[in-house]
Amino acid sequence: MRGMIELQDLDLHITELEERKREIPGHKKAFAERLKRLDDELAESEQQFKQLALNLKECEREIETLKGNILKMDAQLNTIKKNDEYRAMLTQIDLAKKQVSQKEELAIKLMCDLDDGKRKLEADKQRIAEEKRRVQAQAAAVDEDLARLQQELDQLTAQRAELAKTQPPDLLRHYERVRSAKKFPAIVSLKDESSCGGCFMNMRRQVVNELIQRAEFKSCPQCGRLLYYPGHLAAPESGPAGEAEAS
Ligand SMILES: [Zn+2]
Repeated sequence: MRGMIELQDLDLHITELEERKREIPGHKKAFAERLKRLDDELAESEQQFKQLALNLKECEREIETLKGNILKMDAQLNTIKKNDEYRAMLTQIDLAKKQVSQKEELAIKLMCDLDDGKRKLEADKQRIAEEKRRVQAQAAAVDEDLARLQQELDQLTAQRAELAKTQPPDLLRHYERVRSAKKFPAIVSLKDESSCGGCFMNMRRQVVNELIQRAEFKSCPQCGRLLYYPGHLAAPESGPAGEAEAS
């Protein structure tokens, strides 16, 4: 009798561990998603810094072009004979020089932006690397949990198989049938010396008396669960059910 109850306890424990095991892929997926988001964030930060460097380069290139144009126009000045053309060229040169000084101011601002951007990128890199290490450590802990859980499950399953071998086969079949009908626990004690501890139906007096008199299971006529009288568990069990009945 105790063997069957012990078997049920093992099954309860196994079920509980299996439920915890089923939750693990969800946790792992969440960690993987967090790592991906952190990678994306770093890529974005790097892209922003690259863009700042490109902006500066573009500005410097424009300054070089303008300066080249000014040199060309300066050289052309000497070849111009007409006064109005000469003045027009001077105006163009003046305009180009103004543009150069504007662009140079912009370049200084862009250099500051680039410096700030570099500091921000370094800070982001450090923060993201730390966060990634933290998430990876959590993910590793979950892997260890899973390994421990699996080990425990293997042990309990082996223990259960050994115990099942020593139980009366018809009782075991009955138990499995009730269990597979999703009525769990399949083995319940008689409640208040009157009703089924699973479905709470009142038992006939004769059934109650038999349960109290004999250390044996009886199936509940309503739900089919295996019923026992809890008083039989309090006293030390001397042997198989038959012997206990005689004592
Ligand atoms: Zn019942």
